[in-house]
Amino acid sequence: MTIAVIGSNMVDLITYTNSLPKAGETLEAPDFAIGCGGKGANQAVAAAKMGGNVMMVSKVGDDLFAPNTVANLQQQGVDTRFVTTAPGTSSGVAPIFVDDQSQNRILIIKGANQQLKPADIDDAAEALKACQLIILQLEIPLETVYYAIDFARQHQINVILNPAPAVATLDIDYACKCDFFMPNETELEILTGLPVSSDEEVILAGQSLLKRGLKNLIITLGSRGSVWMSGDEIHRVDATPVQAVDTSGAGDAFIGCFAYLLVETGDVAAAMTQASAYAACSVTGRGTQRAYPDAESFQRFLN
Ligand code: ADP
Repeated sequence: MTIAVIGSNMVDLITYTNSLPKAGETLEAPDFAIGCGGKGANQAVAAAKMGGNVMMVSKVGDDLFAPNTVANLQQQGVDTRFVTTAPGTSSGVAPIFVDDQSQNRILIIKGANQQLKPADIDDAAEALKACQLIILQLEIPLETVYYAIDFARQHQINVILNPAPAVATLDIDYACKCDFFMPNETELEILTGLPVSSDEEVILAGQSLLKRGLKNLIITLGSRGSVWMSGDEIHRVDATPVQAVDTSGAGDAFIGCFAYLLVETGDVAAAMTQASAYAACSVTGRGTQRAYPDAESFQRFLN
C-alpha cells in the first residue's frame, strides 16, 4: 500500500423535494437516491480511481448499509481489510434534502465513525507502516486524528490533514506536525477567526497559521482556485473553467488526486494543477464519488 486514509465513510440519503414537513405532518417527495460518501471514503476513492494503491482504516455500523459501503470501496479498488464493524451502532449517514434550486439541507449522523479509536490504528499498524502517506480529516474523533499524526511521525510517514469539517478547537501544534494542511476557505476562516473574502485576506489568514509553524498550507477556494503557501513562497493555481453542475465533494476530489500525484511524483505544484483539473471535472457531474473520473476519463477530460 502507498496511501492510507484514516477517516469517515457516510451513506448519503438524498431526498429531492421542494417542501419539508412541519411537525406532525407527512408529505410525499418526488424522488430519492442513495450515494456513498463521507470525506475519508471520498478521498480514498478519488486517489484509487486515479490509480493509487489505497487502503482505508474506517468504521461501519452494525446495519444494512455496512456491506454496501464495503462493497463500494472494494469496487473502486480500495483495500478494506481495516474497515471494521462497530457493534450496536448505526453507520454514518447524511440525510440530504435537495430542492429544485439545487439548495441542499444536510444532517450528519456520524454513527460508527465516532467509534474509530486509536486502538484501530494499532490494529492496522503493520499495514500503515508500509504506507508513504496518511490522509486525515475531522469526521472521526480528534483523539484518533492526533494519535494517527503521532504514529505517522514516529514511523516517518508523510501526513495530509484536511481540517474538515472545521473544528475551532483543533490543536494547531498537531497541524504543524503534518506535511500538508489543506483547509478550504471557510475552514481557514473558522480556524483563524480572520476574514477570507478576498485573495489578500486569504493570504493574511494563511500567514497567521504559517507563523505558528505550519510547513505547507494549501487552501482551496472553490471556483477561485487554490493557493499553496510555504515559508515566504506563495503559489497560486486558477480553477479550471467548467460548467459546474454539483460542487459537493470537490475538495475531496482535489485532495485524493493531489495525494496520489504527490506520492507518485513529489512535485507539489504540478500535483495541484492536476488536482485542480480533476476537481473541476468532478463538479461537471452530479454526486460525489460517482462524479469522480477514473484515470482514463480524466485523460479524456484534459484532451
Ligand atoms: P470544498 O468541497 O471542500 O468546499 P472547494 O469548494 O474549495 O472545496 O473546491 C476544491 C477545489 O475544486 C477548488 O480549489 C477548485 O480547484 C475545484 N473547484 C471547486 N468548484 C469549482 C468550480 N465551480 N469550477 C472549477 N473548479 C472548481
